[in-house]
Amino acid sequence: MGEFVELEAQDGVRMPWNVLPGTKQESSNCVVPVSAIYTPIKPFPNMPVLPYSPLRCRACRSILNPFCTVDFSAKIWICPFCFQRNQFPPHYASISDDNLPAELFSQYTTIEFEDPQTISSSAPSPMIFMFVVDTCMIEEEMAFLKSALSQAIELLHENSLVGLITFGTLVHVHELGFGEITKTYVFKGSKDVSKEQLLEQMGFFLKKPKPPTGVIAGAKDGLSADSISRFLLPASQCEFTLNSVLEELQKDPWPVPPDQRASRCTSTALSVAACLLGACVPGSGARILAFIGGPSTEGLGAIVSKNLSEPIRSHKDLDKDSAPYHHKAVKFYEGLAKQLVHQGHVLDLFACALDQVGVAELKVAVEKTGGLVVLAESFGHSVFKDSLRRIFQSGDHDLGLSSNGIFEVNCSKDIKVQGIIGPCASLEKKGPLCSDTVVGQGNTSAWKMCGLDKATTLCLIFEIAKKDSPDATAQQPSSYQFYFQFLTYYQHSSGQMRLRVTTLSRRWVAGPGSAQDLIAGFDQEAAAVAMARLVSFKMENEAEFDPIRWLDKALIHICARFGDYQKDSPSSFSLSSRLSIFPQFMFHLRRSQFVQVFNNSPDETAYFRVILNRENVANSAVMIQPSLISYSFHSGPEPALLDVAAIAADRILLLDSYFTVVIFHGATIAQWRKAGYHNQPEHQAFAQLLQAPHDDADEIIKERFPVPRLVICDQHGSQARFLLAKLNPSATYNSDSLLPGGDVLFTDDVSFEVFLDHLQRLAVQ
Ligand SMILES: [Zn+2]
Repeated sequence: MGEFVELEAQDGVRMPWNVLPGTKQESSNCVVPVSAIYTPIKPFPNMPVLPYSPLRCRACRSILNPFCTVDFSAKIWICPFCFQRNQFPPHYASISDDNLPAELFSQYTTIEFEDPQTISSSAPSPMIFMFVVDTCMIEEEMAFLKSALSQAIELLHENSLVGLITFGTLVHVHELGFGEITKTYVFKGSKDVSKEQLLEQMGFFLKKPKPPTGVIAGAKDGLSADSISRFLLPASQCEFTLNSVLEELQKDPWPVPPDQRASRCTSTALSVAACLLGACVPGSGARILAFIGGPSTEGLGAIVSKNLSEPIRSHKDLDKDSAPYHHKAVKFYEGLAKQLVHQGHVLDLFACALDQVGVAELKVAVEKTGGLVVLAESFGHSVFKDSLRRIFQSGDHDLGLSSNGIFEVNCSKDIKVQGIIGPCASLEKKGPLCSDTVVGQGNTSAWKMCGLDKATTLCLIFEIAKKDSPDATAQQPSSYQFYFQFLTYYQHSSGQMRLRVTTLSRRWVAGPGSAQDLIAGFDQEAAAVAMARLVSFKMENEAEFDPIRWLDKALIHICARFGDYQKDSPSSFSLSSRLSIFPQFMFHLRRSQFVQVFNNSPDETAYFRVILNRENVANSAVMIQPSLISYSFHSGPEPALLDVAAIAADRILLLDSYFTVVIFHGATIAQWRKAGYHNQPEHQAFAQLLQAPHDDADEIIKERFPVPRLVICDQHGSQARFLLAKLNPSATYNSDSLLPGGDVLFTDDVSFEVFLDHLQRLAVQ
């Protein structure tokens, strides 16, 4: 797998197939789709940033790259995508074999261009944060939230613009730029407000009359800078006011009868925030940070009634279509997503409550705008507090928050794009590149990414369109390479506009004997991650979809196609090392939170999937199949099999399942620790053994967003369930439970041995 990781280190891309199936038929036999898991603005310390605009092919607009054929004497380059011959412009006149511009260097397949116009323009535009704060919560939670917010405000860059909206039964927009008296504008929670009503009511047209025609778009168009700066102020100017407003902030004063839920108008508050930003700072990459402490019960996005006897929807309710509020709320948030994407704004969600708050409904608006989401039990939990701090922190582990992204794809004409599964929204740019089959955000070759950061990772699903020719030998293809070009325009965190260009080339094969080549280019980790995004997408979007059956069929098909075996002889079955851990990934994917949704609430499932859909291959693989490291006196830290057999009294285990990091002490270790041996000078080695997993856990935690939950537990303790739930149940292995051969379905909680045994039997049929 090392070579695939190296490719990722150069271009930020992993592909399940690095030698591509060359025809439509060939690729459908491969089961795992031709796809690319791409991190558009992954940082590369050695990547050049060129201070000029790139050259484009005059036919297909793709950008000059190392795969172009260059005729130095004629000063012509040939586009690998459409074969157009392009003349170099005069300022490339001195180009020669040993005088190449950087974009033609073979190692710079990923490169950035910085627009010379935005470099010369004065100050970079500031970040804009609109805090939207729920007040329907108990005093203790209010106190946690207020303290976290005031810490965040301290970390804000002094130029950042800040606004504040609070809500409960009503929506309060706080005027931070007031003179002497505190002022808020109040909106009813049950009624959606239009942008015009909002502006009118908030006195935007008192000093400067409303323009009779045309759209209102910030200080340039229709609004006075004065009126905007009443609500959005540089942090340096409003820190004091903001802090005093927060300090005085009270729990929602409206009485809540004991048999009722609080009246919480989350959707109306978010709608007001979106309208205000849309009017004041359109196209600015502003972020709405929503802090929500319970279920929405008021307005168009309510997820449950106020009556406590009515429970919040579960997966069972959604399955039976008996969640009366769900569809209406999703529809509302689809509308909000559309508005935010149009405005170029991001919705970040911090959902902290024991109850569900409506992440399942809000998901669409977060995902389409490239927002961040954090789910925790309380605003006092470190998962929330540390994650919030990370957003505003600068330095090595900052998130590299960027905005205003547009992502575009070019590829060889035999390849079509089905869509992207990931945090983006279609820009509906239709063309010959688009496949008729749509997966995720499809039917387009351009996508909006309102918010993106160093980690944001898209999964592009392709389709090989080339038909098998009836007589393969009659027509020799001109080239056995397919080309891809990914273009990302974005506003760098420095404020400058940049264009990142990644150009890839992959060999394709077809016909008899191609299996060996395909296997040689198979990246099983990337394949597992692509399958995880696909299965999650299908579960959400296809009625009656059976994920277990779909995954099992795919796996059996792959093993039958690429395994070595004699027909009808399961014991003869073997897989090349390129494929050998793929069945294990599929085994864990079947058991994972992405497929076994009934163990979680719809909010949790939505949360897990939003994160899966924005993470890179390595992190996603850990979500599917957690990593386990064992520490003992006998050896250094070493990877352990994800199996109950890994547990031993004299071992410490470190489990990383992405959302949770568990340090698990075997019984003897726990005893020694409780006896305080590690504090005695003669047991220094024990102290070191005890410390090692903590150091490794810290390394994991400081790199990750959202910050994972750290669980420290002992064998036989109640918290040990966080480890046990992730282990393969090999100890319960019972050969009597084997299913008769021929059935496609495996039973659900079998051990990996039973699973593999069964798989081999079915694959050789
Ligand atoms: Zn071209």
